[in-house]
Amino acid sequence: MRVLLIEDETRLAENVAAALREGPGFAVDLAEDGEIGLFLTRDGCYDLIILDLMLPMLDGLGVLNKMRSAGDTTPVLILTAQGETRSIIDLLNAGADDYLSKPFDLGELIARVKALIRRGKGAAHPTLNTADIEINTLEQTVRRAGMVVDLSPMEYRILEYLMHRPRVVVSKRELLEHLYDYNWEHHSNVIEAHVSNLRRKLDASSEQPSIETLRGRGYRLIAQKGVA
Ligand code: CA
Repeated sequence: MRVLLIEDETRLAENVAAALREGPGFAVDLAEDGEIGLFLTRDGCYDLIILDLMLPMLDGLGVLNKMRSAGDTTPVLILTAQGETRSIIDLLNAGADDYLSKPFDLGELIARVKALIRRGKGAAHPTLNTADIEINTLEQTVRRAGMVVDLSPMEYRILEYLMHRPRVVVSKRELLEHLYDYNWEHHSNVIEAHVSNLRRKLDASSEQPSIETLRGRGYRLIAQKGVA
């Protein structure tokens, strides 16, 4: 998953980014003002946006209004400073999905971020099931037909992304955009290698292939038991 953090307090931004990268293993991009932040949202690469309210150039409410009026439905978590509580009603009415008041606990931020991403993808529960594959997004554990499957962090991230989109063909480009931040030089053969390892591990205890490759289009997770 890839998160955009729009926050002008450098130290706070770096702490939050580090926590999101190390804990759930998200790709994180940083923007220091509202205009750069809004510009970055337009690529549609983000699974969640964390938006500070008081920002240079364009404030958080301005960013949110412009995103929503452009039809961008990406979940938005607002960070508010002390004394800004009166604007929370305005923020929720403007299309914010949640908010946290500074100072906040990083553990709480991560829990809210994960819940918002899940709900944004239509999953209310932290356990996802597709056919005989089950993942627990809190523990980042994977089982196939009840057997534990050990994955590398990137293999897990790819599988989690695909589990949120069963029956849908997901392109390599989409995986690159949602799993790596903008400092990463994009190579689709990196994705191919990870998917190949992921498939080998998932299929070790099953005769049914877990992930289809559709030439030139991308990957699709099997959706039903017993149907290849
Ligand atoms: Ca600020």
